[in-house]
Amino acid sequence: MADNISRETFSGIVSNETPDKNKIAEASRIIAALQHELEELAELGSGPFAAAIYDAEGNLVVKMPNTVTLDNCSHNHAEMNVIKAAEEKLSTYDLSPFHLKLYSTSEPCLMCMGGIMWSGIKEVYYGVPTESVEEITGFDEGYKPGWVEEFKKRGIVVYGNIERELGEQVLRNYVAKGKIIYKPARQDEQ
Ligand SMILES: [Zn+2]
Repeated sequence: MADNISRETFSGIVSNETPDKNKIAEASRIIAALQHELEELAELGSGPFAAAIYDAEGNLVVKMPNTVTLDNCSHNHAEMNVIKAAEEKLSTYDLSPFHLKLYSTSEPCLMCMGGIMWSGIKEVYYGVPTESVEEITGFDEGYKPGWVEEFKKRGIVVYGNIERELGEQVLRNYVAKGKIIYKPARQDEQ
């Protein structure tokens, strides 16, 4: 990647550290690939979200989609799936010594935010922000006031809105195909 990257490249990117162009470029590559794979997985019945965990050297550790409806388990969001799979693979309940990075096609929901915090994941990169996920799909993502800053306090780096337009299109395609939207009721809905 060229060193004379313009400021424009960072526009719209959410981050709780000084934006690092190499991290953004790597995350764009990984999340865009996840979004493309996700379109095929959704055809097989997965939910419209996928996540992957990479190690500090940039090697893939695990990659999985949301399997809530496939597994009949409300906990099986993509982020929870990859955390469980990585812990199993590495035989540990604490991933912190491995300095792992989690990439997700959408912003983590309330449950996954907690799951990431307890897992020892050190860096989180997401695509579509919660406001867009809720607007496009109607899913309820929960309440997460100031979570990006809360993660910073705990030494967890967060970057968001990576390949946002691509991710929003994947979600629109999912909705257009009439796939399942599962969620609890919320009072503020019209
Ligand atoms: Zn979730």
